[in-house]
Parts: sequence; C-alpha cells; structure tokens
Amino acid sequence: MASVKVAVRVRPFNQRELDMGAKAVIRMDGKKTRIVNLSKTAGDVGFKDFTFDHSYWSFEPSDPDFATQEQVFEELGTEVVASAFEGYNACLFAYGQTGSGKTFTMTGPPDDPGLIPRICEAMFGKMQEEQEDKNYRVDVSYLEIYNEKVRDLLASSNPSGGLRVREHPRQGPYVSDLSHHLVTCYDHVAQLMERGNRARCTAATNMNDTSSRSHAIFTLTFRQAGLGAEGLPCETTSKVHLVDLAGSERADATGATGQRLKEGAHINKSLVTLGSVISALAEKRVGSFVPYRDAVLTWLLKDSLGGNSKTIMVAAISPADCNYSETLSTLRYANRAKNIVNQPTVNEDPNVRLIRELREEIYKLRGLLGEETQPKVLAELQQKEAKEKSLTAEWAEKWRETQAILREQQALGLRKAGRGVVLDSDRPHLVAIDQDDRLSTGVTLYHLNRNGDTVIGAAEGSDIVLPGLEPHHCIVTLKDGIAVLTPKNGYCSVDGLATETSSRISQGSLIGLGRAHVLRYNDPAEAAQLRKEGRVMSRSSLFGGSTSDLNLNVEERELETERRRLAREYEERKRQLDEERRRLEERQREAEEQLRLREEKLEEQRRRIENKKEEELEKREELQELEKRVVERLATLQERQKRVAELDAQLEAAREEVETARLALKERTEAELQAMHKRRASLSLALNGRGRLGPPSSDDSFHTATDQPQTLWPPDSALSDSGLGLASPGEALARKVAQQKEKILTALEDENCDKEALNDHIAHLQELQREQIRLETKMNGNFKGGPARRPLEAEVDEPPITVRANAFRRHSAFELSSP
Ligand code: ADP
Ligand code: MG
Repeated sequence: MASVKVAVRVRPFNQRELDMGAKAVIRMDGKKTRIVNLSKTAGDVGFKDFTFDHSYWSFEPSDPDFATQEQVFEELGTEVVASAFEGYNACLFAYGQTGSGKTFTMTGPPDDPGLIPRICEAMFGKMQEEQEDKNYRVDVSYLEIYNEKVRDLLASSNPSGGLRVREHPRQGPYVSDLSHHLVTCYDHVAQLMERGNRARCTAATNMNDTSSRSHAIFTLTFRQAGLGAEGLPCETTSKVHLVDLAGSERADATGATGQRLKEGAHINKSLVTLGSVISALAEKRVGSFVPYRDAVLTWLLKDSLGGNSKTIMVAAISPADCNYSETLSTLRYANRAKNIVNQPTVNEDPNVRLIRELREEIYKLRGLLGEETQPKVLAELQQKEAKEKSLTAEWAEKWRETQAILREQQALGLRKAGRGVVLDSDRPHLVAIDQDDRLSTGVTLYHLNRNGDTVIGAAEGSDIVLPGLEPHHCIVTLKDGIAVLTPKNGYCSVDGLATETSSRISQGSLIGLGRAHVLRYNDPAEAAQLRKEGRVMSRSSLFGGSTSDLNLNVEERELETERRRLAREYEERKRQLDEERRRLEERQREAEEQLRLREEKLEEQRRRIENKKEEELEKREELQELEKRVVERLATLQERQKRVAELDAQLEAAREEVETARLALKERTEAELQAMHKRRASLSLALNGRGRLGPPSSDDSFHTATDQPQTLWPPDSALSDSGLGLASPGEALARKVAQQKEKILTALEDENCDKEALNDHIAHLQELQREQIRLETKMNGNFKGGPARRPLEAEVDEPPITVRANAFRRHSAFELSSP
C-alpha cells in the first residue's frame, strides 16, 4: 500500500501578470503551501493552508529556497527511476491550469530539461552501470488524447477516428496499434521525444492550441532480466507513465457533479472523469464504483490511480492573485489526491516467480530433512529440485533467445509501427525484392561490408549468395560512404539501366542482377543527409531528367512510358487527395472553432453560476451575523427590562416609605406646632410680668432672677425672622420637606420622569429630613438639664429660661436651656 505522493510547484510571474501588476498570493514554508485571499475584507480569515509531500518554491530564482529543475528531479524523478528498477510500475503526472508550468516541469526547455528527459537519462545511466549483471529492454510510446481520441505522436499517420483502446484480460487496457519504439540509448529516446513533441506542436498550431486541451502520455516499458544471487533468475517488467495533462481550467473537475459534470463532459471528458475517479478513490468507500471506463485517460491510467503503481502528482500553480480561484481549485484537487492509496507490486515474470517459490520450498525441505533421511521428504525434495532445474533451464534458454533477438533487433532496428514492422539499420545495406519467385516470403536484408568489397554471386563463399546468378556476378565496394557496383560476369543494371562498368549507386537505387533479382540499396547516412537538405527524390523524377537522352531498349522504353503514366496518375490522385484533405481539415478547424466558442460560453456560464453562488453564500453569512446581533440585543433588552422592574419595585417601596414618613412628620409637625404655641403662650405669660426686652450685657450669660428684671433677646420679631420664632425654623423646614415630597410624588407620577432628577429630589428630601432631625435633636437638647428635664412642649408655669448669648453670637443659633 502506498499513498499517491503529491507535490506543488509555483512558477514565477509571467509577462502578462507582471504587466497587470499582479500580486503574489502563494506562500510556502517547508511542506506547507498557503494561499492568501487578498479580496477578503479585513477581519476575515484571508488564507487557506495545505500540506503536501513537497511544496516547491520556483517563484523567484534569487530566493535561497528556490526549487530548480534539478531539485525537483532529485526528489521526484529519482524515485520514479528507483521504482522502475525495483520492478514497480510508476506514474508521474502534472496537473494545473494552462500556463501554470506543467510542461515546464515535465519536459522543460532544452537548456533546463524537466522530469521526462532527466528520468530517461538517469535510467540509461543506471543501465550502463549495471549492464554487467543484467540485460535490459526498453521501448517507448508517446500518445495524445484529444476529444477522447487517441493519436500516436510517433507514427507517421493516424486513422481519422483515432486509435482504439482495448482491454487485455490480464494486462488491462491498452491502445491497439500504438507504435512501440525499441530504444537502446538516451539519444534515441530524446529523438523520439522531440519527434512526439513536434507532432503535438504542429497539431496545436493547426487547431488553436490543443496542447492546453490534450493529454500527453509518454510511456517507457522497462524490462530487466538477469541471474541474481545463487544463480536465481530475476525478470521484471515496469511501465513508467509520464503524463502532461490538459489545462485544468477546461473543466473544473473538483466538485464535478450534476449539471457541472455534464458541461464539463463536453469540454473535457477525460479531465472531469479524472476528478471523479480521484474523488471516488479519495473517499475510500469500500466497494464504491470508480468510473475509470468513462474516459480514455482514466481507463489507460487505471493502474496508476488506485492500482498497481507508485504514483506522483505534481500540481503546477500560478502565484498571481488574478488566478486565485483556479489555483485554489488546483490545491483542493491535489489535496484530495493525497488520499488515494495504491497497491504497487513487483511485476515479476510468472515463471521466475515460480522458480523462486520452488527454491524457497526446497530450502525448507532441506531443513526438514536434517540429519536423518526421511524417504517421503526426500522424494518431494528431489521432485521439486528437478522441476526447478528444468524451469531455470527453460527460462535461461528463453532469455538467451530473447537476448539474441534483442541484439539483432538492436543492430537492425526492428520496430513496430502501427500494423507494420519497420526493419531499420544504420548501416548501408541491400534489401532483396523478389520479382520472380512468387513463393518467397519474408524480407531479406544484406549488410554490406564496411570499407571493402561485398561479393555477390551464386558461388558458395560469396558474401551474398543468390541462386540463378553467375558464380561471381558482381562486387559492391563501399569506401568512405560511397558505394560502387562493378559487374564481373553477369548482367547488371542500376535504376533500369544496364551497366557493364563500375557505377556509383546511391540511396534508393534499384539494382537488377541477372533476370530474376532486384535489390534496393539503402544508405541511412546518405538518406539522413538528403532529408536534411530537403531533397526528396521520387523515382519518377529520377527517371525524368537523367535518363531521357540515353539509349534505352524498347522494352525499357515502354516500361518507362508506363511508369511515367503511372507517375502522372499518382501525382494527379495525390493532388486530389491533398485537396480533399485540405477541405476536411478546413471543416474540422471550423468545427473546432465552433466547439471552442461553445466551450467558452459554457465556461463563462459556469463562472457566473459560481460567482452567484459565492454571493449568496456571503449574503447568508451576513444574515446569520445580523440574526446573531438581534438575539444579543433582545437579551440585553430583557436584562434592562428586568432592571427597570426592580427599580420600579424599589421606587414603589421608597414611595411608600416617603408616604409613611410624610404622614408621621405631618403628625409630629402638628404636635410640635401645638407645643410651640403652648410654649409661646407660657413664655409670653412669664415675660409679661417680670421684665422688659433690652440688649444683652457683655457677659457671656444672663441669669434670670426674681429680684432683677431680665430682658429676653432677641425680640419676637427677630426670633420670627431667623426662622426660629413663632413661624419657627422647624415649621419652615417642615414646609420645605412637604414641598420636596410633593415634588417627588409629581415626578413619580410623570411617566417621562428623569431618574437622575428623581434621585436628586430624593437626595434633597433626605438632606432636608436630616436637617429636621438635627434641629429636633437640638431642640430636645435645649430642654435637657433642668430639674424636671422638660421636653419642648413644657408647661407654661415652668421656671424662667436662660438664653446664652455667646452661643447666639458664635453659632447664630439659639440654645435654649432651662437651669
Ligand atoms: P502549461 O504546460 O501548464 O500550460 P507551461 O509549462 O507551458 O505551462 O508554462 C507556461 C510558461 O511559464 C512558459 O513560458 C514557461 O517557460 C514558464 N514557466 C513555467 N514554470 C516555470 C518555472 N518553474 N520557472 C520558470 N518558468 C516557468
Ligand atoms: Mg503545457
């Protein structure tokens, strides 16, 4: 079990983003990637964090943490190489919106190659190191999926409906008729890669950038075999898929369900299905259906997603704020992919596995046997050993054969191309074309001796033995890349012209020997040179100019006329077909254009719906916030109402208290008043008979005496004025108290009464009442000390009163006392 490894890589700003003055929204710290939402209002959480197996910071080359192509290869690519050598299948795919750096990471520019070239180079380097112990066989295929059609990027032509995808009962899905190219060195892989990329580019310019809408799968099939420890055979086959996906903005596969899925399916079924497959696998529901077969991409990569493979995903992202939503969607997609669990197993050859298992059993049996001989175990052991031996021999034989074929294939470059098998060689050679022998089958290729003569004839011992020729018919001499045919004893012709002297032969020359044999001369180096110079020689042109003035025999001339007619017909037919093809391409381009417009419209619609949804979400959040505030306010209101009720109750109590106090005071005031009246009557009675009013002496006090008439100071009027007289200070105070109470009652009855004002009134009332009590206490005190200790309401016939003038002077209040 192994989870899919996920890496994220952020690229530098591109020119467009720089021109726009884009702001960076990606931060990375170790394995963590943070995306910041700059459009959020302050106070909101404006970022999201993700953790991946690797977060590659390729934003600013001058940064010390900058991740180079080298580093990405060291951490991801070497793992792919190691997996292949251990016998596991491996897959590395790049996901992200168009222009996010998928191709840069996978292929890279020539001066800074990406993962695919580095992985291939590392694999061949390792093979070179270990070639002593093991033999290897690597083939390459390169395909593109566009609009659910598979195109072979390494084939010279493709069927218009695309190649068909089939499923092998044991080996799973495969592309039928896809060309597989045997490669023996890194240069060869590089050539094929370049050829495939060129094919992809050509298609891209013709069909307004299909590369952003097509998926490219580069596959290495890596087979290794050899004898391990104790001569144990080992043979494994690994498939390494290196995938550059279409731009993810073409279909938001993340939450692809319902209508969105339908829309997406038209845009890029493979990408949408990939999203669904990842979601289904990430949810890990047992027995849940995984829709691999819904799209070509997922069907072909079935093993890489949740199956027998070690898989790595690289999510390529842009750093710019304008790509925020696409980048967030890519990060979410990648985050989900982390949860896919694969079951990689070593893809061992079934026979090799059997041999290994037999060996293990043999060891076990040998252990069981121990010291004494047990006949049954011994018999079993012998049987197993025999079987193991024969299987090993069989395997070794098969492997030797494979090796021999491989070596031959490598020399000849036998490769499959679609339905055909191309026999290629990098050395000059002759290919036999049997004209007469209708029963001959197979194609024969004769290599010419390097820098020397190749003798052709019927004689045994000739380099090339051909029946029906003269024993030493002719010689082909190869020197410094130039081939010359020299007839010896037999009839020879070059391109239909008989020759008796040495003639130079060149790429594509047809050599006639005797009456029956025709051989074609191929010189791959010369062919390459001609291709480079852009010189394509058709056979008709060869015949057209150079041979017109030669003296041809009649048969040959007729042949020539016939050939020319055929050539003309061929040219005409070719022209018509080209015309037809151009028309079809034009129509296809138009259809593509319409499709593209429709896609853009749908994409626009999708974005609008998404924006609307976001807006709604925001509104809902606002509403929730408002509701929360209303609830809080209601709670506060209830709290206040409770407090008001409490205050009301307090006020009610206070009002009652005040009322009681008022009544009590009223009673007391009346009683006091009466007592005052009585006292006044008694005082005036006493004074009337005994003295007259006069100013006080300078002494501190006066004493009343029967023999000496005394004056009482101050006079009535003064007493009255100071508020202590008959309309006494007590009375005035009582009036003020009553008035204050009245004020409070009025205020209490007033619904809009101001609480503070009320409190002030109450405070004032309390102050007045305190004053009243003070006064009362004073007055009570003045009546204290006499023999009878009279209260304020003394009888009229009481002893005379002493008025202390110093007290008057000092406190401007009277202290009345009775001696
Ligand atoms: P995609 O394949 O995802 O559409 P490309 O790989 O073509 O995107 O990248 C778009 C552009 O960004 C290219 O010009 C490429 O050179 C540049 N680019 C992408 N990634 C990087 C990187 N890590 N460093 C420098 N340039 C990059
Ligand atoms: Mg690309």
